[in-house]
Amino acid sequence: MNSIGFDETRVTPVPPRLEVKNLMRSFEGRTVVNDISFAIQPGQVTCLLGPSGCGKSTTLRMIAGVEMQDSGEIYVDGALVCDTIFRLPPERREIGLMFQDFALFPHLSVADNVAFGLTSGSKAEKRARVEELLERVDLMRFIDGYPHQLSGGEQQRVALARALAPKPKIMLMDEPFSGLDNRLRDGIRDETLNILKEQDTAVLLVTHEPEEAMRMADEIALMRDGRIVQHGAPYNVYTRPVDRAALAFFSDAN
Ligand code: ADP
Ligand code: MG
Repeated sequence: MNSIGFDETRVTPVPPRLEVKNLMRSFEGRTVVNDISFAIQPGQVTCLLGPSGCGKSTTLRMIAGVEMQDSGEIYVDGALVCDTIFRLPPERREIGLMFQDFALFPHLSVADNVAFGLTSGSKAEKRARVEELLERVDLMRFIDGYPHQLSGGEQQRVALARALAPKPKIMLMDEPFSGLDNRLRDGIRDETLNILKEQDTAVLLVTHEPEEAMRMADEIALMRDGRIVQHGAPYNVYTRPVDRAALAFFSDAN
Protein backbone atom coordinates (compact mmCIF):
# COMPACT_ATOMS: atom_id res chain seq x y z
CA MET A 1 0.00 0.00 0.00
CA ASN A 2 1.53 3.37 -0.94
CA SER A 3 0.99 6.79 0.72
CA ILE A 4 -2.33 7.47 -1.02
CA GLY A 5 -3.76 4.09 -0.15
CA PHE A 6 -3.26 2.58 -3.60
CA ASP A 7 -2.23 -1.05 -3.47
CA GLU A 8 0.20 -1.38 -6.36
CA THR A 9 0.53 -5.12 -5.92
CA ARG A 10 -3.13 -5.51 -6.93
CA VAL A 11 -2.94 -3.64 -10.25
CA THR A 12 -3.98 -6.02 -13.02
CA PRO A 13 -1.23 -6.22 -15.63
CA VAL A 14 -2.16 -5.34 -19.22
CA PRO A 15 -2.88 -8.60 -21.04
CA PRO A 16 -0.82 -9.49 -24.12
CA ARG A 17 -2.19 -8.53 -27.51
CA LEU A 18 -2.25 -12.20 -28.54
CA GLU A 19 -2.09 -15.17 -26.24
CA VAL A 20 -2.43 -18.84 -27.14
CA LYS A 21 -2.66 -21.48 -24.46
CA ASN A 22 -2.12 -25.21 -24.88
CA LEU A 23 -3.21 -25.43 -28.51
CA MET A 24 -3.59 -28.98 -29.81
CA ARG A 25 -4.52 -30.29 -33.24
CA SER A 26 -4.41 -33.77 -34.73
CA PHE A 27 -5.06 -34.99 -38.26
CA GLU A 28 -5.97 -38.63 -38.74
CA GLY A 29 -4.74 -39.59 -35.30
CA ARG A 30 -1.40 -37.78 -35.66
CA THR A 31 -0.75 -34.80 -33.39
CA VAL A 32 0.69 -31.99 -35.52
CA VAL A 33 0.30 -29.14 -33.01
CA ASN A 34 1.17 -30.35 -29.56
CA ASP A 35 0.53 -28.06 -26.58
CA ILE A 36 1.64 -24.75 -28.09
CA SER A 37 1.55 -21.70 -25.78
CA PHE A 38 2.99 -18.22 -26.26
CA ALA A 39 2.09 -14.54 -26.00
CA ILE A 40 2.87 -11.49 -28.14
CA GLN A 41 2.78 -7.83 -27.06
CA PRO A 42 1.75 -4.90 -29.32
CA GLY A 43 4.64 -3.89 -31.58
CA GLN A 44 6.43 -7.18 -30.99
CA VAL A 45 7.45 -9.69 -33.66
CA THR A 46 7.53 -13.35 -32.69
CA CYS A 47 8.79 -15.89 -35.21
CA LEU A 48 7.56 -19.45 -35.26
CA LEU A 49 10.66 -21.04 -36.74
CA GLY A 50 11.07 -24.66 -37.70
CA PRO A 51 11.47 -27.16 -40.53
CA SER A 52 8.76 -27.90 -43.06
CA GLY A 53 5.94 -29.99 -41.62
CA CYS A 54 6.53 -29.12 -37.95
CA GLY A 55 3.08 -27.51 -37.54
CA LYS A 56 3.73 -23.78 -38.06
CA SER A 57 1.00 -23.11 -40.61
CA THR A 58 -1.57 -25.16 -38.71
CA THR A 59 -0.85 -23.07 -35.61
CA LEU A 60 -1.24 -19.85 -37.58
CA ARG A 61 -4.45 -21.05 -39.22
CA MET A 62 -6.03 -21.82 -35.86
CA ILE A 63 -5.22 -18.30 -34.64
CA ALA A 64 -6.68 -16.88 -37.86
CA GLY A 65 -9.81 -18.94 -37.23
CA VAL A 66 -9.77 -20.92 -40.47
CA GLU A 67 -8.78 -24.14 -38.70
CA MET A 68 -10.33 -25.35 -35.46
CA GLN A 69 -8.17 -26.57 -32.60
CA ASP A 70 -8.99 -29.81 -30.76
CA SER A 71 -8.26 -28.06 -27.48
CA GLY A 72 -6.63 -24.94 -26.10
CA GLU A 73 -7.58 -21.27 -26.04
CA ILE A 74 -6.80 -18.10 -28.00
CA TYR A 75 -7.10 -14.61 -26.48
CA VAL A 76 -6.84 -11.15 -28.04
CA ASP A 77 -6.24 -8.33 -25.55
CA GLY A 78 -7.27 -10.69 -22.78
CA ALA A 79 -10.63 -11.54 -24.35
CA LEU A 80 -11.39 -15.12 -25.34
CA VAL A 81 -11.56 -15.48 -29.11
CA CYS A 82 -11.72 -19.25 -29.37
CA ASP A 83 -11.84 -22.36 -27.26
CA THR A 84 -13.57 -25.69 -27.82
CA ILE A 85 -17.01 -24.20 -27.13
CA PHE A 86 -16.84 -20.57 -28.23
CA ARG A 87 -15.54 -19.49 -31.62
CA LEU A 88 -15.35 -15.93 -32.90
CA PRO A 89 -15.49 -15.99 -36.73
CA PRO A 90 -12.24 -15.05 -38.54
CA GLU A 91 -13.54 -11.71 -39.82
CA ARG A 92 -14.25 -10.53 -36.27
CA ARG A 93 -10.81 -11.31 -34.83
CA GLU A 94 -9.11 -8.06 -35.95
CA ILE A 95 -6.34 -10.10 -37.50
CA GLY A 96 -4.54 -9.37 -40.79
CA LEU A 97 -3.08 -12.15 -42.93
CA MET A 98 -0.19 -12.35 -45.37
CA PHE A 99 0.93 -15.44 -47.26
CA GLN A 100 3.68 -16.47 -49.64
CA ASP A 101 1.42 -16.16 -52.65
CA PHE A 102 0.12 -12.66 -52.35
CA ALA A 103 -3.44 -13.75 -53.11
CA LEU A 104 -4.39 -10.44 -54.69
CA PHE A 105 -7.61 -10.47 -56.68
CA PRO A 106 -6.44 -10.35 -60.32
CA HIS A 107 -9.64 -8.76 -61.61
CA LEU A 108 -9.60 -5.91 -59.09
CA SER A 109 -7.51 -2.75 -59.36
CA VAL A 110 -4.79 -2.08 -56.79
CA ALA A 111 -7.11 0.43 -55.08
CA ASP A 112 -9.96 -2.10 -54.91
CA ASN A 113 -7.64 -4.81 -53.62
CA VAL A 114 -6.52 -2.57 -50.77
CA ALA A 115 -10.10 -1.46 -50.06
CA PHE A 116 -11.39 -5.05 -50.00
CA GLY A 117 -11.29 -5.50 -46.23
CA LEU A 118 -12.77 -2.06 -45.48
CA THR A 119 -16.32 -2.83 -44.52
CA SER A 120 -17.29 0.41 -42.78
CA GLY A 121 -16.97 4.09 -43.71
CA SER A 122 -18.07 6.24 -46.64
CA LYS A 123 -16.64 5.88 -50.12
CA ALA A 124 -14.50 8.99 -49.56
CA GLU A 125 -13.19 7.65 -46.23
CA LYS A 126 -12.26 4.35 -47.86
CA ARG A 127 -10.51 6.13 -50.70
CA ALA A 128 -8.56 8.25 -48.21
CA ARG A 129 -7.44 5.15 -46.31
CA VAL A 130 -6.39 3.41 -49.54
CA GLU A 131 -4.35 6.45 -50.59
CA GLU A 132 -2.75 6.75 -47.16
CA LEU A 133 -1.63 3.11 -47.30
CA LEU A 134 -0.45 3.21 -50.91
CA GLU A 135 1.59 6.33 -50.05
CA ARG A 136 3.09 4.46 -47.12
CA VAL A 137 4.18 1.49 -49.26
CA ASP A 138 5.24 3.89 -52.02
CA LEU A 139 2.85 2.58 -54.67
CA MET A 140 0.52 5.51 -55.33
CA ARG A 141 1.53 5.47 -58.99
CA PHE A 142 -0.14 2.04 -59.33
CA ILE A 143 -3.42 2.96 -57.65
CA ASP A 144 -5.44 2.33 -60.81
CA GLY A 145 -3.21 -0.50 -62.05
CA TYR A 146 -3.84 -4.25 -61.84
CA PRO A 147 -1.83 -6.93 -60.00
CA HIS A 148 -0.34 -8.46 -63.19
CA GLN A 149 1.33 -5.13 -63.96
CA LEU A 150 3.31 -5.28 -60.71
CA SER A 151 6.51 -7.10 -59.75
CA GLY A 152 6.45 -9.71 -56.97
CA GLY A 153 7.81 -7.23 -54.44
CA GLU A 154 5.23 -4.63 -55.43
CA GLN A 155 2.43 -7.18 -55.18
CA GLN A 156 3.59 -8.12 -51.72
CA ARG A 157 3.52 -4.44 -50.70
CA VAL A 158 -0.07 -4.21 -52.00
CA ALA A 159 -0.87 -7.32 -49.94
CA LEU A 160 0.62 -5.59 -46.89
CA ALA A 161 -1.45 -2.45 -47.54
CA ARG A 162 -4.57 -4.58 -47.95
CA ALA A 163 -3.91 -6.51 -44.74
CA LEU A 164 -3.30 -3.27 -42.81
CA ALA A 165 -6.31 -1.36 -44.19
CA PRO A 166 -8.79 -2.39 -41.47
CA LYS A 167 -6.17 -1.61 -38.77
CA PRO A 168 -5.74 -5.14 -37.44
CA LYS A 169 -4.39 -5.61 -33.94
CA ILE A 170 -2.43 -8.66 -35.04
CA MET A 171 -0.68 -9.59 -38.27
CA LEU A 172 -0.17 -13.26 -39.09
CA MET A 173 2.43 -13.85 -41.79
CA ASP A 174 3.10 -17.28 -43.27
CA GLU A 175 6.43 -17.31 -45.13
CA PRO A 176 5.47 -14.02 -46.80
CA PHE A 177 8.90 -13.35 -48.29
CA SER A 178 9.74 -16.84 -49.57
CA GLY A 179 8.52 -16.20 -53.09
CA LEU A 180 10.56 -13.05 -53.54
CA ASP A 181 13.80 -12.49 -55.34
CA ASN A 182 16.83 -12.56 -53.03
CA ARG A 183 17.83 -9.14 -54.26
CA LEU A 184 14.53 -7.56 -53.18
CA ARG A 185 13.88 -9.53 -50.06
CA ASP A 186 15.95 -7.66 -47.49
CA GLY A 187 14.50 -4.29 -48.45
CA ILE A 188 10.93 -5.54 -48.31
CA ARG A 189 11.49 -7.30 -44.99
CA ASP A 190 12.82 -4.12 -43.42
CA GLU A 191 10.12 -1.94 -44.90
CA THR A 192 7.35 -4.32 -43.79
CA LEU A 193 8.78 -4.45 -40.29
CA ASN A 194 9.01 -0.66 -40.05
CA ILE A 195 5.37 -0.25 -41.06
CA LEU A 196 4.12 -2.93 -38.66
CA LYS A 197 6.12 -1.43 -35.77
CA GLU A 198 4.78 2.06 -36.53
CA GLN A 199 1.23 0.69 -36.27
CA ASP A 200 2.06 -1.13 -33.02
CA THR A 201 0.80 -4.38 -34.53
CA ALA A 202 1.62 -7.66 -32.82
CA VAL A 203 3.21 -9.88 -35.45
CA LEU A 204 3.42 -13.65 -35.72
CA LEU A 205 5.82 -14.52 -38.52
CA VAL A 206 6.09 -18.13 -39.65
CA THR A 207 9.31 -19.11 -41.37
CA HIS A 208 11.59 -22.10 -41.93
CA GLU A 209 14.61 -19.83 -42.47
CA PRO A 210 16.75 -19.13 -39.39
CA GLU A 211 18.31 -16.14 -41.13
CA GLU A 212 14.88 -14.52 -41.60
CA ALA A 213 13.94 -15.13 -37.97
CA MET A 214 17.27 -13.73 -36.76
CA ARG A 215 16.75 -10.63 -38.86
CA MET A 216 13.12 -9.91 -38.03
CA ALA A 217 12.16 -11.39 -34.68
CA ASP A 218 12.10 -9.90 -31.21
CA GLU A 219 11.50 -13.45 -30.00
CA ILE A 220 11.96 -16.81 -31.67
CA ALA A 221 9.81 -19.82 -30.83
CA LEU A 222 11.66 -22.80 -32.25
CA MET A 223 9.27 -25.59 -33.29
CA ARG A 224 9.87 -29.27 -33.88
CA ASP A 225 7.31 -32.05 -34.32
CA GLY A 226 4.42 -29.86 -33.20
CA ARG A 227 6.09 -28.50 -30.07
CA ILE A 228 7.93 -25.33 -29.14
CA VAL A 229 11.30 -26.69 -28.01
CA GLN A 230 12.93 -23.33 -27.25
CA HIS A 231 11.63 -19.77 -26.94
CA GLY A 232 13.68 -16.64 -26.40
CA ALA A 233 15.56 -13.68 -27.86
CA PRO A 234 17.13 -14.51 -31.24
CA TYR A 235 20.67 -14.14 -29.92
CA ASN A 236 20.03 -16.56 -27.07
CA VAL A 237 18.31 -19.15 -29.22
CA TYR A 238 21.12 -18.95 -31.77
CA THR A 239 24.06 -19.00 -29.37
CA ARG A 240 22.60 -21.40 -26.81
CA PRO A 241 20.70 -24.06 -28.77
CA VAL A 242 18.65 -26.27 -26.50
CA ASP A 243 19.97 -29.53 -27.99
CA ARG A 244 21.92 -31.02 -30.89
CA ALA A 245 18.94 -30.94 -33.21
CA ALA A 246 18.47 -27.21 -32.61
CA LEU A 247 22.15 -26.63 -33.27
CA ALA A 248 21.95 -28.69 -36.46
CA PHE A 249 18.86 -26.81 -37.63
CA PHE A 250 20.68 -23.49 -37.37
CA SER A 251 23.92 -24.71 -38.93
CA ASP A 252 22.38 -26.78 -41.77
CA ALA A 253 20.49 -23.78 -42.96
CA ASN A 254 23.66 -21.71 -43.30
P1 ADP B 1 4.54 -26.32 -41.58
O1 ADP B 1 3.76 -25.08 -41.86
O2 ADP B 1 5.43 -26.22 -40.39
O3 ADP B 1 5.30 -26.78 -42.80
P2 ADP B 1 1.92 -27.57 -41.38
O4 ADP B 1 1.28 -26.95 -40.21
O5 ADP B 1 1.50 -27.10 -42.72
O6 ADP B 1 3.51 -27.50 -41.22
O7 ADP B 1 1.67 -29.14 -41.33
C1 ADP B 1 2.00 -29.94 -40.23
C2 ADP B 1 1.61 -31.38 -40.53
O8 ADP B 1 0.21 -31.50 -40.56
C3 ADP B 1 2.12 -31.86 -41.87
O9 ADP B 1 2.56 -33.19 -41.73
C4 ADP B 1 0.90 -31.78 -42.75
O10 ADP B 1 0.96 -32.72 -43.78
C5 ADP B 1 -0.23 -32.05 -41.78
N1 ADP B 1 -1.48 -31.41 -42.17
C6 ADP B 1 -1.71 -30.08 -42.25
N2 ADP B 1 -2.97 -29.82 -42.63
C7 ADP B 1 -3.58 -31.03 -42.79
C8 ADP B 1 -4.89 -31.46 -43.16
N3 ADP B 1 -5.86 -30.56 -43.43
N4 ADP B 1 -5.14 -32.79 -43.20
C9 ADP B 1 -4.18 -33.70 -42.91
N5 ADP B 1 -2.93 -33.37 -42.56
C10 ADP B 1 -2.61 -32.06 -42.48
MG1 MG C 1 3.69 -23.94 -43.63
